[in-house]
Amino acid sequence: MLRGGLARAGYQLVTAADGLIAWDMLQREQVRMVILDWMMPGLDGPALVRRIRAAGWPGYTYIILVTARTDATDIVDGLNAGADDYLTKPFREEELLARMGVGRRILDLETRLSDSLAREAAIANLDSLTGLPNRRALYDRARTELSRATREKRSMGLILMDLDHFKEINDRFGHGVGDEALRCVASVLQKNVRDYDFVGRWGGEEFLAVLPGASLSQACLVAERIRTSVENIRLGSRGTEGVALRASLGVACNVQGSVTRDLDELIEAADDELYRAKAEGRNRVCFQAPGEWGGRLGRTGHA
Ligand code: GH3
Ligand code: MG
Ligand code: MG
Repeated sequence: MLRGGLARAGYQLVTAADGLIAWDMLQREQVRMVILDWMMPGLDGPALVRRIRAAGWPGYTYIILVTARTDATDIVDGLNAGADDYLTKPFREEELLARMGVGRRILDLETRLSDSLAREAAIANLDSLTGLPNRRALYDRARTELSRATREKRSMGLILMDLDHFKEINDRFGHGVGDEALRCVASVLQKNVRDYDFVGRWGGEEFLAVLPGASLSQACLVAERIRTSVENIRLGSRGTEGVALRASLGVACNVQGSVTRDLDELIEAADDELYRAKAEGRNRVCFQAPGEWGGRLGRTGHA
């Protein structure tokens, strides 16, 4: 009975013959507004409303109950079950359409709100200068990846990189050139890792790369490739011909012989190696080889 009028009003409709069929359909398709009869075979209106509310689907479902009952307690029951509105039979089509209009306004508000929350969440996880994930996002993602790696008994590599004498670049060429350099480094980093690796800005002129599935030696290869790519960066702006970017990198892996490390230990190990790379003369990659290989300290790259 309703179908023709609602379709003419521009609604896309799916119809179900009873409550159980509707429940089945709702789980498969995303339906934003539901118009339900109170009395249905199988599953009645209020029971279906309660199921929809309990399901906790993303996005709100606006529910209008249609009932022949006019008793105030029935209406209260329907609304308490979680319906947003009700209509008593018989009703005019215009009234249903007007009430659906109210529902649409609420759903539109909900869409706008959740879009803007999603945008805020994305912004909160990104570094505004480079567009890379920031420290918080990196840490969260690295923790997730590390627990997966530990569970699946796979390795995970971590690279911490710090630009060498970066303060000098700011001092000699200005902060704008320093910023341009950081953006270039960010894009070089992204180009040097695989799709399932991720890189981000750890702090000022420090970057972190997380390499799920990478062994220590694979992570060292990536780090060395990053080091040479940074060395080859030529900035585009005028007056930047003299800018020479260099970086020191520390590499660590979650599996060190029979020992597995947690994220803080892993970051600390990479940081120790980074510190050593600085101390040994910068523009190089340092790593601590697994204990069973004799606790050897390694290094690639030269100033
Ligand atoms: P080292 O080789 O020991 O790492 O020397 P460094 O000069 O790189 O280290 P230091 O920690 O003394 O200086 C880091 C510099 O990075 C200082 C700071 O001005 C600069 N820096 C941090 N964040 C930014 C940024 O967003 N933009 C610019 N232009 N510079 C930044
Ligand atoms: Mg630093
Ligand atoms: Mg530095």
